[in-house]
Amino acid sequence: MNAPYLPDMSLKGKLRRRATRFADRKPLPAFARRYVSFTFDDFPKSSAEHGAAALEFHNLRGTYYACTGQLDTENHFGQLCSAKDIQKLANAGHEIGCHTENHIDCAVSHPAIAESEARRNRLVLSELGVREVRSFAFPYGDVSFASKKTLAASYATLRGVQPGINHQFADANQLLAVPLEGDLSEADYALSFLRGLANKPGWLIFYTHDVREDSSDWGCTPVLLQHIIAEAMKMDAIIAPVSEVFKQISQEAQS
Ligand SMILES: [Zn+2]
Repeated sequence: MNAPYLPDMSLKGKLRRRATRFADRKPLPAFARRYVSFTFDDFPKSSAEHGAAALEFHNLRGTYYACTGQLDTENHFGQLCSAKDIQKLANAGHEIGCHTENHIDCAVSHPAIAESEARRNRLVLSELGVREVRSFAFPYGDVSFASKKTLAASYATLRGVQPGINHQFADANQLLAVPLEGDLSEADYALSFLRGLANKPGWLIFYTHDVREDSSDWGCTPVLLQHIIAEAMKMDAIIAPVSEVFKQISQEAQS
């Protein structure tokens, strides 16, 4: 098994990540309500099974950002999803989002490559019966100026991995998202953002990868996910997939 690819962690990379947040922005409107989305990147079979089960227990749905070039393969997240997993999730009402075909680093790839990777991924998803792909997440959370601009043309939202709650003026083309990692003993980090949301309306997006007992460093246990979902349920929040939340807040802004 190959070691996980690590994005550019140099000072230059960090500065670019910060700077792209100020380019090609799509500012969110003011929030009258609280919203929470649960999202899964890449995504492994374990999140298709345990993640979906945890959400469906409460009749909730999540967003799964898929890389169709990785179907039926295995990496540090365990066994990745199959075409059938995507179809099953979509049929159950979960959102299928785009994460490029081969999980490319959009910060160092030419924008034409990022665009064709995204387009091919959407094509395979449509062949699998996914009717509309409205949401995109940057692999490694990273993007260049040029690729952000190109990708923004094809999706309602683009999501990064910069932690935080999305309030008014947050960028729908680089949505903030909070990692859900580890076991129940590490719940406090995620809970601190739920407390932040309780204090002020906005949109809190969680993301994780594998959901299993022996989770990777980028995944979480089923118990942690269940706990965070249960805590979110106690709040007066709308819990829905990313595209659904974006639609609702856009409609509210117009009414
Ligand atoms: Zn990813």
